[in-house]
Amino acid sequence: MMENWQELTALCETCGCSVRYAEPLRNHTTFRIGGNCGAFVSINSIETLRRVLALCREKQYPYLVLGNGSNVLAADSGYAGVILHLGHDFSGIQQKGSELFCESGATLARIGKYALEESLTGMECLAGIPGTVGGALYMNAGAYGGEMADVVVSASYMLPDGTITEIPREKMELGYRRSIFREMDGIIVGITLRLQPGNYGEIKAEMDTLMGRRRAKQPLELPSAGSTFQRPVGNYASF
Ligand SMILES: Cc1cc2nc3c(=O)[nH]c(=O)nc-3n(C[C@H](O)[C@H](O)[C@H](O)COP(=O)(O)OP(=O)(O)OC[C@H]3O[C@@H](n4cnc5c(N)ncnc54)[C@H](O)[C@@H]3O)c2cc1C
Repeated sequence: MMENWQELTALCETCGCSVRYAEPLRNHTTFRIGGNCGAFVSINSIETLRRVLALCREKQYPYLVLGNGSNVLAADSGYAGVILHLGHDFSGIQQKGSELFCESGATLARIGKYALEESLTGMECLAGIPGTVGGALYMNAGAYGGEMADVVVSASYMLPDGTITEIPREKMELGYRRSIFREMDGIIVGITLRLQPGNYGEIKAEMDTLMGRRRAKQPLELPSAGSTFQRPVGNYASF
């Protein structure tokens, strides 16, 4: 696909968001491999996402959503379409009591740190997973006996036509590393998490313990996407 991307450039300028062309996907995946994508757009608002999606539809550009790239294996041949990056530029966190409303690009690490500072418990086992909260909900990420399903209350997602739908946890079909989002075209934009008031020292101690266990078992400095094998029902994928 040879595009001149003129209209995408103009749109991104209007929206104040960054766009890069022929961007190496190896720079955006934890496997650190993958060829170039056609365009890499750092989404900075719901309205930007809606407008870029509309342009993709009009121009028939294929597109893919990327969070922190920690569960994606990008092909050496790259991807000719548009990567919609929901990451740092779309990562606001707002608090109401024990509930946190997070834009989907917020990382679990940042949300965990925020929760710690506010003495809110519930994120300890998730904070070490190196993904965005959107990517984590997409596959109901989990570790050390906890998973996204334990803390999510609701989410909103955008369909290809730009409409936004709110979905409560009960309708997300959350199971072991799966959710309804894997079966549909929706892009998760916002997630509400419900945590519980807790004790700063205890939350910090638990986070430090779990991070220590992770560092002891996982070569975090090496390229990977974490676990390779899915756990068989009622058993472990490794000894
Ligand atoms: C060292 C290491 C340790 C890990 N440990 C764990 C662990 O303990 N437990 C665990 O469950 N996982 C673990 N993982 C895997 C990974 O971190 C999780 O799956 C994480 O939730 C992926 O989030 P992401 O933002 O990186 O998603 P990405 O890798 O960017 O995307 C993954 C998928 O989600 C989709 N997606 C991303 N954002 C959205 C969105 N906003 N809307 C719709 N779809 C979206 C993408 O299109 C893609 O299909 C680990 C990975 C690494 C590298």
